[in-house]
Amino acid sequence: ISDTTDLHASFEVHRSDSPRPDAERESLLATPKFGTVFTDHMARVSWTQGLGWHDRRVEKYGPLQLDPATAVLHYAQEIFEGMKAYRHDDGSVWTFRPWANAERLQRSARRLALPELSTEDFLASVTALVRTDVDWVPSGDETSLYLRPFMYASEAFLGVRPSMQAEYLVIASPVGSYFAGGVQPVSIWVSEDYARAAAGGTGAAKCGGNYAASLLPQQEAYARGCEQVCFLDAATGTLIEELGGMNVFVVGADGSVSTPRLTGSILEGVTRSSILELLREDGREVTERDIPLTELLDGVRDGSVAEVFACGTAAVVTPIGRLAGTDFDVTVADGSAGPVMQSIRTRLTDIQYGRAADPHGWMHRL
Ligand code: PMP
Repeated sequence: ISDTTDLHASFEVHRSDSPRPDAERESLLATPKFGTVFTDHMARVSWTQGLGWHDRRVEKYGPLQLDPATAVLHYAQEIFEGMKAYRHDDGSVWTFRPWANAERLQRSARRLALPELSTEDFLASVTALVRTDVDWVPSGDETSLYLRPFMYASEAFLGVRPSMQAEYLVIASPVGSYFAGGVQPVSIWVSEDYARAAAGGTGAAKCGGNYAASLLPQQEAYARGCEQVCFLDAATGTLIEELGGMNVFVVGADGSVSTPRLTGSILEGVTRSSILELLREDGREVTERDIPLTELLDGVRDGSVAEVFACGTAAVVTPIGRLAGTDFDVTVADGSAGPVMQSIRTRLTDIQYGRAADPHGWMHRL
């Protein structure tokens, strides 16, 4: 699907009777703080067993009223996505590979026994919301409108079985430049006490429960003076998996690049797959494989590892300057942002902000 010109027409738009005045919106857009300010509207679709998806609409942003027995509050039957709308210099607004997010939401839905939303409905919901709130898409350098599609089990019933009702919504939050002070390397705490996801579990799904389970290890990382936590595989506790919200790449001094393979317990990042594609086109040796922690640490110590970086929609790519754990604490090269990470960051953001050609057809105009 490459054109949603008419698709969003399936959404009925009920405009808010109290949108924020222009001056207030402009001042909120001037210093957006991630995830704290939301636009005037939200997109919404309801699902009922037997009836399917119905009542596609855009309505005033506001609180949800939930029966205390609503299934999601008890059994965490919930999934979500994260993507951005970017404003180009000519004023047009675009998303990056939204089909991949639609398909990932479908995979997450299958794993959490929620109904699948079609790619058409997903694109239409995002289009309808962004067109309604288009004045909320910021235009400053490296700013964007963060989009959060999510779905939850809405039936008021305490039996443990898939909900017969679900709600899908999209909310949007303007975000500023992630690296206001330049690209800042992060330090990583490698969690040996806690795992994020097990084989056969929900690690490959983007479901709220995975993030709930990551909060305590994340607190442990902070307590150890690190900004992010890196999880190891649950089965052996020896292989690098991913961070709480980003995938990981390792660049060798020989120019080769590797990233953990998709084992079912790692989230398949859209940024990860885009980076793999760009690096492979460059003719680089790129492998998706098991990366033992000991191999990574040895490589950092003997210099055969030149760069380690993390990637995801929020920060695009982030250099990892330091890796610490219960019995190690190492600095990667000189601890600063490396050239491979920086060039990937520039290439991806140039495509996203329309400063470079888009030969892959990754951008989708809203
Ligand atoms: N891993 C996890 C656990 C995440 O939450 C995210 C963010 N969605 C990523 C990786 C990166 O995915 P993406 O590049 O699609 O943002």
